[in-house]
Amino acid sequence: MSKRPYIVGNWKMHGTRAMLAEARAIDRGAERLTKVEVAIAPPFTLIHAVRKEAELMGVGAQDVHPAEGGAHTGDVSAAMVKDAGADFTIVGHSERRADHGESNARVLEKAKAALAAGLNLIVCVGETEEERDAGKAEAVVSRQLSGSLPTGEELAEKITVAYEPVWAIGTGRTPTVDDVAAMHRHIRAKLVAIYGEAGAGVRILYGGSVKPDNAAELLSADEVGGALVGGASLTAESFLGIVIAAADLPRDH
Ligand code: PEP
Repeated sequence: MSKRPYIVGNWKMHGTRAMLAEARAIDRGAERLTKVEVAIAPPFTLIHAVRKEAELMGVGAQDVHPAEGGAHTGDVSAAMVKDAGADFTIVGHSERRADHGESNARVLEKAKAALAAGLNLIVCVGETEEERDAGKAEAVVSRQLSGSLPTGEELAEKITVAYEPVWAIGTGRTPTVDDVAAMHRHIRAKLVAIYGEAGAGVRILYGGSVKPDNAAELLSADEVGGALVGGASLTAESFLGIVIAAADLPRDH
């Protein structure tokens, strides 16, 4: 895999200005660990302030509304987060799919709006425990990819996919490395079917209870190009532990 590993922190609904010191420390770590591409997605309210701390790391949003603007009380558009300093946004996180009833079609609208505003994208997919137990994990993820990803070979370089099994998010449970590799290979085949050759270069992140002590193992699985990290991204100490694990991966991974 030729691209640098990509380690992204999703702060979810955590963080006030008191957490800017963590953002600063993560950025200083990123400056030392240049073998890894580092980014964090703080809540909307901190995007501008985190951008000011960020010399090297990327800064992103966790969601955007599909419309450019208008009567959507409480929502935030892609152009607004771009203006605040974001260079990417997450879309389709399972917490949004569950808490806000977001369908694949809705995620696709958001993805298109983000690209139109000049943002890069992290598109999240992943099965529930019930779906995995029923042997439907690959079919569910395939449907999410077909339904949520904007098409067009030229878009592939702006897109990252995050595979996050819902049952592994925030639970301390993770799939086996073999299961991660199998799903990532499945996603790779699907990306090549959607984007042609360009699909081979799309990074596929693993997300779900990644911690400093399991990061090396999960990141070394076949076709894993980095990690989307929730809980363990909230302090510089634990997040940089994961970044260090990524920096220590063998070069040809
Ligand atoms: C996430 O929400 O994207 C996530 C992976 O969370 P955690 O690392 O806490 O499981």
